[in-house]
Amino acid sequence: MGGMKFFQSVIPLLSLAGTLSLSAADVSATDVPATKDPLFRETTLPPSAPSETQPYALNVIYFLPAGTEPFENYETRLSGILLALQRFYLNEMERNGHPGRTFGLNKSEDGTKVNIVVVRGEADKSAYPYEGGAGRARKEIQKFFEENPDKKFSDHSLVIMPSTTENPLAPGGVPFYGFGKICFALDYPDFDIKHCGKNDKLGALFTKWFGGMAHELGHGMNLPHNRGTKTQEKNFGTALMGAGNYTLGRRPTFLTPASCAILDRCQIFRTEKFEGPASPRIKKPDEIAIRFGKQSVRVSGRLPKNHRVVSVVVYYDKDECWSVNADYDAETFIADFNREDGVFTAEIPFDEIHPGKTPRVQIRMRLIHDDGECSILRYTLPKDLFIPENTPLKELAPSKG
Ligand code: ZN
Repeated sequence: MGGMKFFQSVIPLLSLAGTLSLSAADVSATDVPATKDPLFRETTLPPSAPSETQPYALNVIYFLPAGTEPFENYETRLSGILLALQRFYLNEMERNGHPGRTFGLNKSEDGTKVNIVVVRGEADKSAYPYEGGAGRARKEIQKFFEENPDKKFSDHSLVIMPSTTENPLAPGGVPFYGFGKICFALDYPDFDIKHCGKNDKLGALFTKWFGGMAHELGHGMNLPHNRGTKTQEKNFGTALMGAGNYTLGRRPTFLTPASCAILDRCQIFRTEKFEGPASPRIKKPDEIAIRFGKQSVRVSGRLPKNHRVVSVVVYYDKDECWSVNADYDAETFIADFNREDGVFTAEIPFDEIHPGKTPRVQIRMRLIHDDGECSILRYTLPKDLFIPENTPLKELAPSKG
């Protein structure tokens, strides 16, 4: 049964519980053992990309409005930060069953320096504010890549802009968000990995902007928001794509299996080139059934023939679920999925779900295609729609999306 398979996918997490007995509530920064925290756990980072085993790399851009210069020592400081992020993603991919995988970085032969491309903006800093400044910067970066194709390593870019507040203890003023395949973060004079986890002013400031960069980078690598299940939170802390931007480096922070399944297909995580036509999106499944039982919801369905979906992730999103940023509270479940016949099943146990404030629930399926793109199927339900367990699939399907 599909339900059985679902539990199998949870077992690797549970078996790690013994080695990671930390919970978010009772851990302070100094309690995080360096060998356990995925941010610091020593692992061999991959060599510079593009390489034979990793043909794509993240474009790292330091974007300077006219009349500004980078903050001192930016190459060394930001390299330390980027390598820590590459390690965090590597360790979390490994824990979730994708060993040796992380995003590619173009770096020096000894692996200590990341190549950061400086792009000089056409206008002064007033043209690139937090609100609405990203569009213009993005256009200029596109133009830069057209003129310098050798500097472009993939479709994914992290753009770092120097803070424009002129207050080193309150950086800001520049775009700080991710959308599509581009994300924006900032630099300030004391943005240095040496402050990571410290219980002082610069330590707290570091977490805010470092966790923020890690989270926005997740968006720039196709990740939506999500929250850990109760078991995941107990064992691993806070999901990076939930509120993990406030915890990374100070308290245990993790990537959900759903985030890792999406990253597995992201271009800059690929181990070989992917060329060819884009995968067609799926607007609706051939069959879908969402059955509320006493202890769980079972979601099952069948995708159309000739689909190019490699995995199906189910989001259990409570309350408001249509507006931007309403999805931080969605727990995620990897469906058992048979690529050959297109049938998927996921079981969502209620005791893994954090309570919502309203009866409204959206069950959302994210279909991850082989080219890294995704299709999203949404079913918004009032909870009083109680469908008895063991209702045959055909009685419910096809349902209207
Ligand atoms: Zn976000």
